Order: sequence, then structure tokens, then C-alpha cells
Amino acid sequence: MIPPDGQPSGATPASAPPPRPPLTLSTDIQFVTGVGRERAGRMRHLGIATAGQALFFFPRDYEYPSELISIGELREGRPASLEGHITELELTSRSPGKSVLGVLVENGSGAVRLLFFNQPYRVDLLPRGSRVIVSGTPRLAGFRMEFVHPKVIVLGEDEPIPENRILPLYPLVEGLKQDHLRKVTSTVVERLADRIEEVLDEELRITAAARVSATLPAMTDPLPEIATALREIHQPSSSESLNAARGRLIFQELFVLQLALAIRRRRLTTDLTAPPLPPTALIDARIRNRFPFELTSDQVRTIEEVGRDMARQFPMNRLVQGDVGSGKTVIAQYAMLLAVAHGHQAVMMAPTEVLARQHYRVLANALAHSRVRMGLLCGSLTAAERRQVLRQAAAGEIDVLVGTQALLYGEVRFSKLGLCVIDEQHKFGVGQRAKLRRGGIDPHYLVLSATPIPRTVTMTMFGDLDVSTLRAKPPGRGAVHTYLAEEGWRDRWWRFVAERIDEGRQAFVVTPRVARQLVDEPADSAVSASPDSTSGEAAAKEVSSAEETYRELCQGPLSGYRVGLLHGQMSSADKAAAMERFVQGRTQVLVSTTVIEVGIDVPNATVMTVLGAERFGLAQLHQLRGRVSRGVHDGHVCLFTDSGVSPTENERLKSLIESADGFEIAEADFRLRGPGDLLGSRQSGMPAMRIADLVRDGEVVAVARELAQELIDGDPDLSAPSRAGLKRQVMRRYGDVLALGDVA
Ligand code: ADP
Ligand code: MG
Repeated sequence: MIPPDGQPSGATPASAPPPRPPLTLSTDIQFVTGVGRERAGRMRHLGIATAGQALFFFPRDYEYPSELISIGELREGRPASLEGHITELELTSRSPGKSVLGVLVENGSGAVRLLFFNQPYRVDLLPRGSRVIVSGTPRLAGFRMEFVHPKVIVLGEDEPIPENRILPLYPLVEGLKQDHLRKVTSTVVERLADRIEEVLDEELRITAAARVSATLPAMTDPLPEIATALREIHQPSSSESLNAARGRLIFQELFVLQLALAIRRRRLTTDLTAPPLPPTALIDARIRNRFPFELTSDQVRTIEEVGRDMARQFPMNRLVQGDVGSGKTVIAQYAMLLAVAHGHQAVMMAPTEVLARQHYRVLANALAHSRVRMGLLCGSLTAAERRQVLRQAAAGEIDVLVGTQALLYGEVRFSKLGLCVIDEQHKFGVGQRAKLRRGGIDPHYLVLSATPIPRTVTMTMFGDLDVSTLRAKPPGRGAVHTYLAEEGWRDRWWRFVAERIDEGRQAFVVTPRVARQLVDEPADSAVSASPDSTSGEAAAKEVSSAEETYRELCQGPLSGYRVGLLHGQMSSADKAAAMERFVQGRTQVLVSTTVIEVGIDVPNATVMTVLGAERFGLAQLHQLRGRVSRGVHDGHVCLFTDSGVSPTENERLKSLIESADGFEIAEADFRLRGPGDLLGSRQSGMPAMRIADLVRDGEVVAVARELAQELIDGDPDLSAPSRAGLKRQVMRRYGDVLALGDVA
């Protein structure tokens, strides 16, 4: 910066001492008062490299002052505060430098003793007769409660009781103390809070509070200004103002995310072009005639939505979610045939080769005697086969290409791609999807998910998609009965399984691990172990494994039956072959890991045994049991836990027996296990939330989304000068991950 007289600003007059650089948001944390090199290093581990980051490093919790209670209410070991008068003092000294000060404090409800060791000077600080507030953790000594080294505040007779401060508790790392962090944040708050730009104007703060308060009655006043919120989050003056501050910061975090998503939704419709593929009456009738059954009402509605989307000249972005067996494949089939009818190509991507092959088979059956040319691209093809498929796709000689997700990042070129279907990918987050788009002519996108997705999640991770939900199941399905095995059930259960096989049915046996090993070394990455299951004596136990179970069943309870094995560590060719044998009924029992979790359709399989069930998420177990509800026969699922499992774990599993609704279970799982896998920032490609919690703050997400959409509808690029700050924040946080780059 050059001052008006043209002198460089660096040249300070020789007489003045060099000014200390002013503290700004970007000041290195090392130079904040009281930090220094060493502590700065530790603070960096917490993600605090600058003063600004310290300002936005929020407490994980708070220490609340305890209420004043009567002596009768004191409980040994429980921290408490009480008010009283000092009635006696006694200082005894056993040897030089060793002393004990005993202080008796009385009030209308009784008396307690305070003890101070080797602090004789306290005699003068605690005059007899003075009024005091004592805080500490009492212990019982004889008939009396006693406090050792409590905190004591001496008060004048008429002095009001000082309001105890709520103290912040920050996440710590080794070598950093609460007090350090409190000091640093207090310095930073004092010097910088007022300099933070207010991005939510008063109108927004009023509207947001009013809408949120419909569900959270605590928030009735407008949300506090940013400076107040920052001060209160670090140094609360009361629990009300702390709540208001948290509310504001949570709302802001979610609002910025929702603005980014709203901008992205809008970009996808205005910036991108896709071929319009309208379902004309003729095409529509031709496609529907291919379905050998009557569509459910949800299918009919969803197909209409898809048809409307695909008729437009910008890409469809639709998530179809529905419980297992709700008939999502029909939707995909409809969309693909619609693309092909218009002379475009369609691609369907599945997460595993087994699934890709199944889709290929189902589609090939459905399209037999049609002119649709199909191709399959997956890992087990030979190099020559692969080359040929790639060539045909590029030459437009394949209309519908089915393959694994590896296709996504592979070198596949299409001559005229009109539709991209992504099956069973709830983990395929908005961040990753953003990267797929390349501009120019885009295909329409259809994402299918069988893991019912809690609403909060569709509003965030899938926030750029329109959502159709298939709730009703196709008619004529057998029911699924789920049992939680009790001690000693195994033999009886295997006999039951054998009887079903004798009747001509087939059976799944699912285990959490591929091979025999101890609990704490996960082997099969397809398995997500429940985080709370490796405690106590269970840690020393073995976990059921596919290989071990396979051997045991072959030699024992199911000897004489044809048993197959399938797991994630087998080669793709072996996996495909094992699956194929089961589909054709050549094996009667399939022992496997969760590779069968998604989408596998073998209507004749009606019995499922899950071993080590405590290691699976509820949603995952629900998915699994969907595998035995595909046909007309009733399904039976029995959950066995590996021994040493706690009763609460069984409680969790019981909710599965009590509910058959995937949406209900998904919500429960989401609450019990947190967003974890579903929303992990790694999975979704999105930055983690700082203060908002998608499980807890679901209602705020909804309000933030509504308001963001309204704002973007009125000002699509946030170009109003009053929105400049908000826009900068959106771009800083989400510009890259959501590929919003060209908005700026
Ligand atoms: P998911 O939603 O789990 O992917 P699918 O699309 O694989 O379910 O459908 C499950 C089974 O139900 C398939 O065998 C399919 O042919 C059948 N199905 C789908 N829709 C209907 C319907 N409307 N009526 C009868 N059966 C149907
Ligand atoms: Mg499916």
C-alpha cells in the first residue's frame, strides 16, 4: 500500500519504535500473545494455524457452574456449590512447613468442613463470620461432608451472588491445556470478533429464527450478529445467549452449504445441455408393454417424473430411492429404453461385478427379441474382449452398456451417450458426482439407492438431486420373518435351513469376515464393523468368517448339500462363477461376505443366516434380508451374534425384528451410529461440518435449504452487493468441491 505522499509504507520514521504487526485473521497463530513456537506447533495439530482459525475453533462442550444446594443435598463425589458462613477456624501445625487448616462452614441446613493442607496463609483470607460460596467435590468424613481444597469466594453480607461463568471446553491435543486455549481464544475474540464480516443481514436473521423456532422453540429472537455469536460461543454470558450463538453458527454453516447446493442445482439446469428425450405416447406404450407385470403406483409416478426430466434440454438429476425389492430396476430400464428409442446410448454402472452381471442378465432377458444391442464391461473380461466392447461403444454399436463403477474413471468413450444410471450408490456423494460432469453435451443422470436415505442426508449429500421415492412394494411377495437367535439355537436352525433346501429353496449364509482372524484386524473392506463391538472380552473372540463357516457347514450341519463360497478377496472371475452357480441353482447354499448385500436377485433363495450380526449396521442388515424377499415364498432370516455381545447390542438388533420399513430403520441407524459411512466427508468429498450435526440439526437443515432456495431463485448468482460476503463464503468453502468455479 502506498500512502498519499508517495512514501512506501514500510519506511517508518526513525524516531518511533517499530510497530507491532496488528493482529489480523491471517496472523500466524505463533504470533498471538501467549502462543509462541512450541504451542503453535501443537495448535496446528488441531487445525489452528492462524488467528482466524482460532476464532472459528469452537468448544466441544462447556463446563456449567453448579447450582447452590443445601447441605442435605450434598452427595459424596458429586461436584457441588453451597453458600454459608464461616463459624470456626483451626490451624494446626504438626511440623515446620506442614499444617492443616480446618474451616467450618454452616448454613441453615447444616455444617461442612473445609480442609487446606500447607496453606496457612488462608487463615487471613477467610475471616471468621464471613459469608462464603464453596465449590468442590465433597467426601464423607464421619457424619459430615468435607471438602479438600475447594474453591472459596468471600462475599460481603449484602453482595449479590456472582453469576458463575460457563467455561468452554475445547478439544485438546497432548501438551495443550484447556487454560492455554481459553486464553488464546479469549485474546482472539477480543481483538478480532468485531472484524468478522456479517454475512447474514438482519432480515435473514429474523426470518431464519422465525422458521427454525417452529421446531426449536428456544430460538425466538432474531439470530444474534456474528460478533456476538463468536463472543458467546467462546465466552458465554448465559446459557440462553450461548444457545442463541450456537443456533446462529449452526444455521450459518448449513445455510452456506445449502446455498452452494442451490447454486449447483441451478447451474446444472442453466449451464448444461442434454439431449431432450421425451416419452412420446408411442415410445411410452412400447416400453411399458415390455414389463410382464402391472407397475405399482409409485413406479408409475416415478416413471412420469423421469419422463418429464428427460424431455428437457438439460440433464436429469434424479435419485430414485426405494427399499429392497421396491422395483427400482424397472425405472432404470424405462429410462434406458427411452434413451435408446431416441437413438442414444445408455450406460448403467453397478458397484460390483456381481451386480453388473446380474443387471446385464436381467436386461438381456427383458430385451431379448428387441433390436437393443447390449454390452458388458467388467474386470473379468480378457483384454481382447475389453477392447472390443470399448470399440463398439465408441462406434455406437452398443446401445446399452452395463458395467462396474470402474467404467466411470476408465477410458470409455461413447458415440452418443444420452443416459447414465448409477445403481446402489448411496456412498457416491455430491462431491464425486460434481467431478463427473465435463460440460458440453451431458447425459441425463439417474441414481438408484436401495439404502433408504434419511431426509437430512438427501438434503445434503444428495442435495443437488431431485428425489423420487418408491414406498409401495410390488404385490405378491412373500413376507420376511426375522429372528434373533438365542443360546443354543444353532443346531435347530441348521435343521430348519436343511428342510427348506429339501423343499427346493436356496439359502444364504452371511459372515462379517473373509478369513479366520481376531477381531481387531478387519480383512474385507466391504465390511464395515460396528464401532462399538470390539470392546471387553469380545475383543479376544474370533469373528465368524466365510471360509471357516464354509468348511464347518460342508463337514457338519449341511454336509450332503451343495455349498458355495463367495467373498471380496476372490478374483472377479471366481466371484462371477460362484454367483452364477447359485443363480442357476447348482449350489444350494451360498456362504458369503456382504458382497451379496446390494441388489442380488435370486427369487428362489428364501433362507438367510447372518453370523456375527452385531458387526453390521441396521441398514445393512435390512439390505441383506431383502435378498430373501424376492420371490413368492416367505423368507426367513436368523441373526446370530458372535458370543460376548452385550445386551444393548441385542436391543439394537431387536429394532430390526420390530420394523420392516427400511426408512424407519435407516433413520434409527443414522441416529444410533451417526452419519459415519453415509456422510463421512471422505466418502462424500465434502468438507466436514464444524458445528452443525446432521443427525441432531435435521430441522435446521430443512429451514436452511428452504431459505437458500428462495434466495437463489431471486438472485441466482448471489450478485446483489448485499450478498457479496455470503457469496465469498460459499465459494471459499464449496466452490471447488461442487465445481461452482464459474459462478465467481
Ligand atoms: P430393487 O428395487 O431392489 O432393485 P428390483 O427392481 O430388482 O428391486 O425388483 C425386485 C423384483 O420385483 C424383480 O424380480 C422385479 O422383476 C419384480 N418387480 C418389479 N416391479 C414389479 C411389479 N410392479 N410387479 C411385480 N413384480 C415386480
Ligand atoms: Mg436393484
